[in-house]
Amino acid sequence: MKKAAGIRTAMRSLVMGAAGAAALFTSSGGSAALAQEVNVYSYRQPYLVEPLFAKFTEQTGVKVNVVFAEKGLDERIVAEGENSPADVILTTDIARLTGIVEKGITQPVEAPALEENIPAGYRDPDNHWFGLTVRSRVVYASKERVAEGEVTTYEALTDEKWKGRICVRSGTNNYNIALLSSMIAHHGEQAAKDWLIGIKENLARKPQGNDRAQIKAVAQGECDIAIGNTYYYAVMLNDPEQRPAAEAVRMVFPNQSGDGPAGRGAHVNLSGMAMAKHAPHRDNAEKLMLFLVSDEAQHIYAEVNNEYPVKPGVAWSEMVKGWGEFKADPLPLSEIARHRRRAIEIVNETGFND
Ligand code: FE
Repeated sequence: MKKAAGIRTAMRSLVMGAAGAAALFTSSGGSAALAQEVNVYSYRQPYLVEPLFAKFTEQTGVKVNVVFAEKGLDERIVAEGENSPADVILTTDIARLTGIVEKGITQPVEAPALEENIPAGYRDPDNHWFGLTVRSRVVYASKERVAEGEVTTYEALTDEKWKGRICVRSGTNNYNIALLSSMIAHHGEQAAKDWLIGIKENLARKPQGNDRAQIKAVAQGECDIAIGNTYYYAVMLNDPEQRPAAEAVRMVFPNQSGDGPAGRGAHVNLSGMAMAKHAPHRDNAEKLMLFLVSDEAQHIYAEVNNEYPVKPGVAWSEMVKGWGEFKADPLPLSEIARHRRRAIEIVNETGFND
């Protein structure tokens, strides 16, 4: 692929996004090829990625310029076209990882170290996206009103004993779409739809709020079962204000035992990275990507956000260790992505959010 060799004017003004800061990065305009730097467009928050970039710069001397935003980075890269200064894109969720590939703003990276450090199910078979951290979407059950071992599978949440007792965020939220996609992959479209109808019938209230709001609703007695991602539980436990709510629930990894789907493992999702299609600092971008799957970087991810390192063998944080080992659904994330469209249709067909 031929790269534009001209001066990349856009490189001179990477504006901080969501953070709202008016900081401008300046590069040594015109000599981009000589500058030891790499430009990251990040949907992940500063507190999480800044410690990683500091280490990377310390080790390599390569400066990391970051644009942070909660949304709109894809569109921005599309608009910037061949002149985009973006080298590496960091984002969460399989939907967003495959979304940037579908928008044509990524390029494949062939690097043995990426393949060695990231299990096959956690990266794109075509090498456009790579997982960095793993999170599970689990059940949170009221310690008071749900007995230990009373809920063991996603499937059993449709049992009529849970009528009016389940809280969950919007069905079209990416995390829930991925979970429903996994149900399609394991059970087929019709069974997945029936499952969602069953969940809807058991809801305590209309889907609303974020994952933490569901746990809080359990703590307040509005429902007895919530569905949410693992790291939010850590966030709540670490915050004196939210800690009591977190302590009112028990984390349950579903589908841990039994034959067939019952024992397939808890659903997991990813945060990850991709190299931008027109990356002006391709070598440094690859260097950074390799660093992010190193033991050191993976350990920082584990500590700072209480996620599971994608690289096997890297220690979990103390808090995460305390939740115990669990079996993760081995379904490749690329397979989950394949069912996304149908999953969204099913949510709409069932009127899940209404
Ligand atoms: Fe999240």
